[in-house]
Amino acid sequence: MALVVQKYGGTSVGSIERIRNVAQRVAETFDQGNDVVVIVSAMSGETNRLVALANDVCEFPSEREYDVLVATGEQVTIALLAMCLESMGYKAKSYLGSQIPVITDSAHAKARIQSIPDTKIRADLAEKRIVVCAGFQGVDEFGDITTLGRGGSDTSAVAIAAALKADVCEIYTDVDGVYTTDPRVVPAARKLDKISYEEMLEMASLGAKVLQIRSVEFAKKYNVVIHVRTSFDNRQGTLVMKEDAEMETVLVSGIAFNKDEAKISVLGVPDQPGIAAQIFSPLTEANITVDMIIQNVSSDGKTDLTFTVPKTDCKKVLQLIEPLAQKIGARGVSSDTAISKVSIIGVGMHSHAGVAGQMFSTLSREGINIEMISTSEIKISCVVNEKYTELAVRVLHEAFGLDRAE
Ligand code: ASP
Ligand code: MG
Repeated sequence: MALVVQKYGGTSVGSIERIRNVAQRVAETFDQGNDVVVIVSAMSGETNRLVALANDVCEFPSEREYDVLVATGEQVTIALLAMCLESMGYKAKSYLGSQIPVITDSAHAKARIQSIPDTKIRADLAEKRIVVCAGFQGVDEFGDITTLGRGGSDTSAVAIAAALKADVCEIYTDVDGVYTTDPRVVPAARKLDKISYEEMLEMASLGAKVLQIRSVEFAKKYNVVIHVRTSFDNRQGTLVMKEDAEMETVLVSGIAFNKDEAKISVLGVPDQPGIAAQIFSPLTEANITVDMIIQNVSSDGKTDLTFTVPKTDCKKVLQLIEPLAQKIGARGVSSDTAISKVSIIGVGMHSHAGVAGQMFSTLSREGINIEMISTSEIKISCVVNEKYTELAVRVLHEAFGLDRAE
């Protein structure tokens, strides 16, 4: 017997028929002798519909009222699921975030969870009730409703699993697990049996949109094992968990790519202390996140400074940097939005040499030019021309032995 937390996303509860299917699954888990706590999202499309309503009413809805509105989607699904379970003869009880309570800070629309008292849920479980909680929402110290940011019910589920010290947190989503790369790009991509928190964070931040990033950070902090799987069949999905010895033996676990960044170069910058600070401070002030940075001093004592920023911020960055470049006597500024970042990820990298070399030679064999490189303990990223993204991902996937054996 175990304490199982299950989270069902919008697609899994997208219709009455699907809610019945979820209830069936929950009931089966309960019948196996487990305590079950379920977290649900709003029906698919519902949160988008609510956000659109808010934007129809006024251009800048207040954040407090925005949260009151968008939190209603989950209120519908918890009630429907609890009703469905009761009609099947089970004892069930639904809770809003504010009733549990999931206590958060007051940062509306992007609130952070601070604590979750487990008393009510424990009492229900002791009486053999199935507990159904609304994901995505909480309540602040003033009793105001808050929400955790889009995709936030993953984080609700992991946080509730951590508070209850659950044995596992199953996240049912519209994919059946975490893959070695996007199967639309590489049809031979494989589903991973398990992946470490660190690798998952890299995969997620690089564009694998399976789990909300914050939920993985939370799981890592509290050591919650996440099982990502689908509600449409019974196959095992992928465990997201602490690194183990077996994971270390694999060189590369996955290939990620990101086409959402742009490259900016400030050319011929005088090589003096304080110049980098002058260039990057206005970006920090404007809340623009800089990802990769490369600086190279040439023989004439001038520096080229190249960095990447989100594509959506590219225009703004140029507006900020161009006058500054003139002021500090740089030769000019150039930008390129037709780039992509391709990364190989694996915890095995820190105990194996030569991985970078293998990546570079694989790309060079295809005539793909590497424009920028960055590395961390478990990741090597190369910026390449955007048109080579798919090719680069495919050849790297094969070169590192990730293709599924047919
Ligand atoms: N319903 C919310 C959203 O669509 C939360 C979630 O689904 O995780 O963002
Ligand atoms: Mg989601």
